[in-house]
Amino acid sequence: AVPLVVAKSTALSAKHGLLIKNKAAFENSRKITTVVFDKTGTLTVGRFEVSRVESLLKNLTEKDLIRLASALEQASEHPIATGILQKAKDLKLSIPLGENFKAITGKGVQAIVESKNVLVVSPGYLKENKLILPEGFTNDDTETVVFVLIDQKLAGYIALSDEVRPESAAAIKTLKEIHIKAILLTGDNNKVAASVCKTLGMDSYMAEVLPHQKLEKIKALQAKGEFVAMTGDGVNDAPALAQADIGIAVGSGSDIAAETAGIVLVNSNPKDIVSLILFGKATYRKMV
Ligand code: ADP
Ligand code: MG
Repeated sequence: AVPLVVAKSTALSAKHGLLIKNKAAFENSRKITTVVFDKTGTLTVGRFEVSRVESLLKNLTEKDLIRLASALEQASEHPIATGILQKAKDLKLSIPLGENFKAITGKGVQAIVESKNVLVVSPGYLKENKLILPEGFTNDDTETVVFVLIDQKLAGYIALSDEVRPESAAAIKTLKEIHIKAILLTGDNNKVAASVCKTLGMDSYMAEVLPHQKLEKIKALQAKGEFVAMTGDGVNDAPALAQADIGIAVGSGSDIAAETAGIVLVNSNPKDIVSLILFGKATYRKMV
């Protein structure tokens, strides 16, 4: 027979959008002192829409840029890929096939398209490779920007925007009320990260973070005595989810994230993390 307390908590957890894969993760949820959030798809809706496209080459149109980028993004599961492919669909573009597709972890994608070496990459990748941003280039603090390189040359950029989930602010506010720190870790640019952190009243943020750096950040927090829950949705987040004291995967994310995590947020709702903690406290307070 299922002990009553477990049966009760399973039913309650279903009601709160929590899939508890690992019972110890649930049991330990009452010890959480810090929640580390991945931005995209957790605190934000995770639906990117193309807001701006700019070509920097004379003989290349904005449509060409979307076509080429889409050829690469067909092979990617990233929410940015979905946004770019939607734009191609809206413009009714026929997308060429890419070859030799490669993901550049935490930085972008690469493939050969129409005999050209095409990359769609983060601002961080440009800096690392000493590629100069177009003169006067700026993005507002809600824009995620990816750059298109053709045969090593900066060919243009695509700006996309995502929205903060309506439930996120209340979730962070409640965490603060129960004295739990909320930290944002994201591979996205600094402006977007700063804006989300400020809008939601989070304790701190780190932007342009690579997957292995997410893992290092979790370790550093643990070394300071924090009991860390980490939420993430991507393949890239799996190592950090595994390192965290409690790994929480977002239901709408990748299968690898869900396999690694002890808890899955079925409705991808950050408010359910609050339920998890309150609920862990209530359930185990009753037990001796
Ligand atoms: P996060 O999930 O924290 O936003 P990722 O590690 O998934 O971070 O991505 C970091 C950055 O790398 C993105 O903001 C983007 O600039 C770039 N990137 C990753 N994947 C893609 C992709 N498929 N297409 C274009 N850019 C990408
Ligand atoms: Mg991600």
